[in-house]
Amino acid sequence: MITSETDEELMSFLGERDAAPAVEKPRWRVLIVDDEPDVHKATEIALSGVVIEGRTVEFLHAYSAQQARLCVEQHDDLAVVLLDVVMETPDAGLQFVRYVREELGNHALRVILRTGQPGYAPEIDTIRAFDINDYKTKSELTRVRLFTSLTVAVRSYWQIHQLEANRRGLEMIVAASTDLSQPKGLQRFAEGIVTQLCALLSVPEEGVVCAAANSSDGHSGESPYILAAAGRYSQWIGMSLASVPDQRVRVELERSLTDRRHHFGQTTRLFFSASDGGSIAAFVDVDHQLSNVDLELLGLFCSNIAVAFDNTVLLKRISDLAYEDSLLKLPNRNSFVARINQRGPEADVLALIDIDGFADINSVLDQEFGDAVLKAVAQRLRESFSTAVEIARIGNDVFGILGAHDEVNTGAIEAVFLSPYEIVGEKLRLSATTGLLRLDEDREKAVELLKNASIALKQAKSFNRGKALYFEAAHAAAARARMQMLNRLRLSFSAERLFLVYQPVVELTSGRIVGAEALLRWRTEQGEFIPPDTFIPIAEQSGLMVPIGEWVVRTALQFQRQLALSGYPGLRMAINVSHVQFREPDFVEKLVSIAREFGTLPGMLEIELTESVAIDNIKLIVKKLTAVRGAGIAVSIDDFGTGYSSLNIVRQLNVDRLKIDRSFISGAESRDGNFSIAGIVLQLAAQLGLKTVAEGIETEEQRQRVRAMGCTDGQGYLFAKPMTSDDFIGHLRNSVR
Ligand code: C2E
Ligand code: MG
Ligand code: MG
Repeated sequence: MITSETDEELMSFLGERDAAPAVEKPRWRVLIVDDEPDVHKATEIALSGVVIEGRTVEFLHAYSAQQARLCVEQHDDLAVVLLDVVMETPDAGLQFVRYVREELGNHALRVILRTGQPGYAPEIDTIRAFDINDYKTKSELTRVRLFTSLTVAVRSYWQIHQLEANRRGLEMIVAASTDLSQPKGLQRFAEGIVTQLCALLSVPEEGVVCAAANSSDGHSGESPYILAAAGRYSQWIGMSLASVPDQRVRVELERSLTDRRHHFGQTTRLFFSASDGGSIAAFVDVDHQLSNVDLELLGLFCSNIAVAFDNTVLLKRISDLAYEDSLLKLPNRNSFVARINQRGPEADVLALIDIDGFADINSVLDQEFGDAVLKAVAQRLRESFSTAVEIARIGNDVFGILGAHDEVNTGAIEAVFLSPYEIVGEKLRLSATTGLLRLDEDREKAVELLKNASIALKQAKSFNRGKALYFEAAHAAAARARMQMLNRLRLSFSAERLFLVYQPVVELTSGRIVGAEALLRWRTEQGEFIPPDTFIPIAEQSGLMVPIGEWVVRTALQFQRQLALSGYPGLRMAINVSHVQFREPDFVEKLVSIAREFGTLPGMLEIELTESVAIDNIKLIVKKLTAVRGAGIAVSIDDFGTGYSSLNIVRQLNVDRLKIDRSFISGAESRDGNFSIAGIVLQLAAQLGLKTVAEGIETEEQRQRVRAMGCTDGQGYLFAKPMTSDDFIGHLRNSVR
């Protein structure tokens, strides 16, 4: 019985030996571990010329457990180890197996234990725990037994290996689908297909090629290229399909792309198409006829892959959209930000180009024309700079340029707009405003850089239109800080966090309170007070000052009415009016109508204008002032003496009062103790018949001096600081007492 069995085994072995091995197939690697050199020789002779599954065997040799460890570490494709149990120590062999399984995590390597002494046989539990294939005493292992054991071991090694490859393929596909938005997504996915297919078809991980005919618009695809390949084909990755040197592979893949279907035969070709027209062809070099099971598996695999591929392509397009401007086919803002972050040291200039009057081009002509303009500019930008320069569309009509100063400078950018553009057959001269920012080593975050530069550019548009100029990083940052403050101010204004305080105006001779000046205050949400000298200029720049100014008039007049109702009628209310407000065409109309609404009596409301209003057309100002005064509203010139208005203008303006700036009363200009300028102003006022107020009176001496020089009214810390409305009423009560 035993004999016949062995004969059969021998026959099948000999049969396999006769089969001519495929030339290119790798050999099974078998490691012999034994401290007796004779055993090595005997084993090799016994197994010489053996062929398993069409492949020959290559023997490796180790004479101690130590050497064996090194060998497994170096060769991860060892199929079987023929292992002596007793070597350096009685259990050196078992310790080696433990090392392979537990430390190296190698579970594919098959182990056939051999021992000279049956007494050293390991426990059955050990054999199970270490996944040992076979255990034989050396005398038991006849030549034929050895063949049989080896064949079984090699086959099971191959199965485990395939399962592992299968699992790896699945893992790759899963991993690929989790980061498909990465540019590598499609390639990782293709690699996953390769691995998976090889495992399914039980072929070594090579002989598979994927070609993708990618087309973003579904019509004209770019020429197919090798997306992923394994084994000896991997050197073709990235190559165009047309230049693949192996004619057979090339033809098969091309056929697959034209046939657009799977084919199973001598070779296997698979085809996957995405709904947008992109497609992948895979080629597998299979030397055996596929079994029905294999084909079924393949079918299942293909239908799943096709869906996954569709998703991959879709995701790629989404990520392209996220990084590319679809109209101009230029990188968009996102991608520009990434490029600034990754810039090399040579890219030391960032430029933002904003086409002047583009909104008009778009609305007056039409959007199609606007698109054509953008395309023309994009094209000229591309032609004007080398490929080392990054060009992106980062806003509606704003282009971003990143490059070396040698190339990216004011001259180069101005040159782009020098000659007229030809747009849809029409000659058009374009101009643009450009802000350039020198980038230093300090890697400020790209987003910050871009924001700062965009804001500086926006501001440059109002006073440097059509020019290219350098921004200081510090200025750009300051511009941004102003913008942020403006946004906060806007929010605060709508959340009613602005309020007015009132500073009493007193008659210098009697010390009687005759009026108040309304002064604006901003307390931020965090409770921080921002002085009006800081936020008012920002509000003025943005036009926000107009609604705020109107609110000030209303609030102050309301308080004046409240004062009257509380028993303090006849107090004059002075309100500061910004030149931006005053310039509004309907300023007078609005002011007068609000004053009427509150029933303000003539002379009880006074607007304070600074000399800067006089910069505008003087005739128009005079007309407006006349209208204001005609409605019973008084006008005073604030901070008088600090501006540039000539005597002549003061005469023409025809105002009621001059407010002497506090710098001439308590500030730097008064230090000489002579109050000389204050004196001149007071003389002038007397000559012109104007009333006066001295601002910033802080000491009794100052009060006496200005009074002696003929000033009637005064304001200052000597009398009171600006107060909230409630405090102001309290203050009035006290001062009457
Ligand atoms: P201004 O109109 O000349 O207001 C007088 C400024 O002097 C106020 O500063 C006031 O607090 C301050 N002051 C008053 N007495 C003294 C004193 O004895 N010593 C010193 N050192 N300072 C004194 P404030 O409130 O910071 O306002 C600054 C400027 O902001 C105002 O100067 C005015 O030009 C502007 N402003 C304030 N409120 C408004 C407003 O509602 N609209 C407009 N357009 N501008 C406003
Ligand atoms: Mg004032
Ligand atoms: Mg003033």
